[in-house]
Amino acid sequence: MAPANPAHQDESIAMGDWRRLFLAFSPTGEPYTTKGDILSILSKNGIHKKDTRIQDLIEALEAYTPKEPIDFETFRSLAGRHVYLLQRAAQGGFIIPDFSGFTDHIAQIYQDLVSINTGDVARYIPQLARVDPKYLGISVCTVDGQTFDIGDTDVGFCVQSTCKPVTYCIALEDVGEDKVHAHVGREPSGQNFNAITLNSKNLPHNPMINAGSMVCASLIRPQQPLADRFDAILSVWQRLCGGVRPGFNSAVYHSEKETADRNFALAYFLKEVGAFPSGTDIHQTLDLYFQCCSIEVTTKAMATLAATFAGAGVCPMTGERVLSPESVKHGLSLMLSCGMYNFSGEFAFTVGLPAKSGISGVIMLVVPGVMGITIWSPRLDPLGNSVRGVAFCEKLVSLYNFHNFDGVGPASEKTDPRLQAHQEKRYLALSLILASSQGDLDEVKRLMARGASPDIPDYDGRTALHLAAAEGRQEVARYLCRLGANLDVRDRFGRTPREEAAASGITL
Ligand code: GLN
Repeated sequence: MAPANPAHQDESIAMGDWRRLFLAFSPTGEPYTTKGDILSILSKNGIHKKDTRIQDLIEALEAYTPKEPIDFETFRSLAGRHVYLLQRAAQGGFIIPDFSGFTDHIAQIYQDLVSINTGDVARYIPQLARVDPKYLGISVCTVDGQTFDIGDTDVGFCVQSTCKPVTYCIALEDVGEDKVHAHVGREPSGQNFNAITLNSKNLPHNPMINAGSMVCASLIRPQQPLADRFDAILSVWQRLCGGVRPGFNSAVYHSEKETADRNFALAYFLKEVGAFPSGTDIHQTLDLYFQCCSIEVTTKAMATLAATFAGAGVCPMTGERVLSPESVKHGLSLMLSCGMYNFSGEFAFTVGLPAKSGISGVIMLVVPGVMGITIWSPRLDPLGNSVRGVAFCEKLVSLYNFHNFDGVGPASEKTDPRLQAHQEKRYLALSLILASSQGDLDEVKRLMARGASPDIPDYDGRTALHLAAAEGRQEVARYLCRLGANLDVRDRFGRTPREEAAASGITL
């Protein structure tokens, strides 16, 4: 029987796979690797030195200088329980195989957004009015824990309405769907997030607006002291964020509370119509709601949270199931239909992805099964959404086929950055030939690690080595030779890679 935890299966990979893996980390194809090569391949895949999953590997590598040769046996013992992570990095086996290509595009979008200066920060409380409007941070985290951060990604901001999907999911986990939806609907309201309005059953329209979120908060451990209720919520946040404990902005909390006439009015209205469960203490409920809005995170932490939603409730950084797939499915459904205030329908139409916006200028965007992205930029449009945040989402889906319905109909011209599930050997071989002719050693290594055969020729009988040699790609040609590519195979014109190399003047 296979061991329960794949992280401890290091002995189960075959020796041939170990060798292939080792060579994928070799700079030249010779039997050695270096700390520099291991770290660079990991970082190209979005697995960085600070990644909590590989801290023991990082510590073990500290004993080496960047270019010091590491032999096969040492590599094996260093790789240890990380063999699967290393294998996926080497093979381009993460959900976004060309992660650096993908993040180059994100960086480009970031640059384009910097010059957008329309909109204004929220002004209903002084703490938000004082936030520097220039802030812009974008963090990406995939369901495999590949991460990328650009801009102000270490600055804390309060989560505001992005707490709503989390509060909703915790309520679902605690008391179940039937109970939650006996107190809140699931239709867009078509009104402002703080509007005093109810659906035809006298319930809040959905959990993504203030009234709905208050009702959800009222369902979370009502019998416990307020402090314990908030602690329980905060610890779910911590687990969703991969172990990073969120902060709490006390000034925002007090300010929210002092200026909350509308929210008090809403709560009394809900009480009057009997929308809360019986026995609800509305002051405690409001307090809990304000506390949730005042949770403080960075885009880095919130991207992990969004990735946990993308991964149906499993946190990519810890592997822990934090929420059930059902709760996450419900949360995402409501984010798609109601997450962007009065822009939700338009956003679902143009962007086609579940997202939740907060008045602090944050947008938590989820590409289900793929990644979470958090964008924070405090300037808001008249509907209360971050101007640059919305522009980011629109740009992203114009480049990539992430819109919910991009898969419908003929293949779109947009790029699919995801792993193709069942790559054919032929596809690998042809890709290898192309990468070799272009001298793209990184791609050649990735393809070899995925099992590409260097001896499968194209329709002219020309192999990857023919092309590398003919194009004078010395590094690639040498690499292929060391991995056993045939130097003397003839193409249909009768030429061998050895002759091509001589003609282009490279030495093998
Ligand atoms: N604290 C804010 C409120 O309740 C949250 C608003 C928001 O982000 N839309 O009004």
